[in-house]
Amino acid sequence: MTISAFRADLGDIPVDDHPRIVQQRSRDHYWYSPVLKAKLDHVTAEIVVSPRSNDEVGTVLAAAYRHGVAITPRGAGTGNYGQAMPLLGGAMLNLMNMDKVLEISKDRVRAQAGAVMEKIDEQTKACVGGELRFHPSTYRMASIGGFIAGGSGGVGSVRWGGLRNLGSILGLKVITCEAEPRELDLEGEDILKVAHAYGTNGIIVEAEMPLAASYDWVDMVVGFDDFMAASRFAHGVASQDSLLVKEVSTYAAPIPESYFNRHKPYLKDGQSVVLLMVAPVALAAMTLFIEHHQGDLRYRADTASEDERKRLPPVYELAWNHTTLRALKVDPTITYLQTRYPTIEHLEHIIGLLGDELPMHIEMTRQDGLVTFSGLPLVRYTSEARLEEIIAIHESNGCNVFNPHRFTLEEGGMKRTDQKQLDFKRQADPKGMLNPGKMIAWENPDFDFSAGKAWLFDGLNPVNAA
Ligand code: FAD
Repeated sequence: MTISAFRADLGDIPVDDHPRIVQQRSRDHYWYSPVLKAKLDHVTAEIVVSPRSNDEVGTVLAAAYRHGVAITPRGAGTGNYGQAMPLLGGAMLNLMNMDKVLEISKDRVRAQAGAVMEKIDEQTKACVGGELRFHPSTYRMASIGGFIAGGSGGVGSVRWGGLRNLGSILGLKVITCEAEPRELDLEGEDILKVAHAYGTNGIIVEAEMPLAASYDWVDMVVGFDDFMAASRFAHGVASQDSLLVKEVSTYAAPIPESYFNRHKPYLKDGQSVVLLMVAPVALAAMTLFIEHHQGDLRYRADTASEDERKRLPPVYELAWNHTTLRALKVDPTITYLQTRYPTIEHLEHIIGLLGDELPMHIEMTRQDGLVTFSGLPLVRYTSEARLEEIIAIHESNGCNVFNPHRFTLEEGGMKRTDQKQLDFKRQADPKGMLNPGKMIAWENPDFDFSAGKAWLFDGLNPVNAA
């Protein structure tokens, strides 16, 4: 009844209620996690709504407020913590029809939330020779709005840091879920209220992002017989201010030979590898740097044939969460963690403790000016209890874990309430219609994060959800 009344208020805004389509759109890449897979497999919305303009988003949100219908925003659905899954049913708000680049100038671009990042770059490169500073490895699919609401950093973060840093996002336009939805323009510190809030406190309809000079980045694969030698090299590359790179990541053997199928002809069994994206101007210096570190240059795209280049995915599609995806295709029992190793000694220590149970994958990133070992290690999963032990081993050894096996904002991140996000939700979504179940501070303000227990969302119980 509620949904039909909601639907009746939408006029000619496109909707889809075909159960298969609705179920497909109710999913993201939550299945990366065996823990989330077990918890979220059954959730589905009742309808998908696909507005084409800011006004139509306002109409949908007003109707949701009026009829008490839960709204879960969705870009391309590539998030992997179940962020875009409708825990209370209701409507999926598909933003992918709002995909226009609105404005380009020398150092910035403004686009609608559903614009795919690769498409944005195609236009900025042609217009001003610029590109987004960094993007997730899902560049060819993911929307800019979904990246801002659900992602953190990616290819380019070795130079430019992450979305959380001031200056990484210049402006956002969001629409609130109220009787009369408002369009708010957020700038400066206010941006942090909705960035990485999973769409729980406003729908992003436009984003303004800074640009960097664009290059024809050259993919390189460098082999090392020893993972720690690969790590020292990667740290060295990322620390060299004069070596212009967009991606530096390391993969312990046997990850490359086991999972990088199409690159296999270039790989040597038993080697760990470093993947690089290098600006043409830095190639000569990079080859010297590789020699200095006794690296084994296995592949460079600038000397490969046209045919080879066409056959191979770009190296960024081996990197970031694509590594896990490739591993999962070969071995469905694999999962992963998100970690941070304060020093190379921490990294070596954890590898010593966990060995091949945790095949190591590191993304070199820059955080507050420091070159950092950001880990996306694979995990040879045996049980949830053992996964928790592996997390505890990291934490008791001074390494951070950002748990990707949790669907709430707090448990996946800093394990505490983000007061700015909560305060903004009170104004922008007073009835709690936006992506329910994802912000513990809203649902259960007294939850004790220090008790070490996972939060249970009532609505997730299939009996309640039915
Ligand atoms: P969705 O998955 O559709 O949405 C993400 C979150 O944002 C959800 O909570 C959704 O409800 C919310 N949302 C979507 N649109 C809006 C909007 N307009 N307004 C408000 N809320 C909204 N992440 C990284 O940070 N870096 C990586 O390198 C990276 N690599 C990945 C590789 C693979 C293979 C996969 C599967 C995932 C990867 N991710 C990565 C996670 C994910 O791809 C990124 O976060 C991506 O940017 C999400 O974009 P999307 O359009 O798919 O968003």
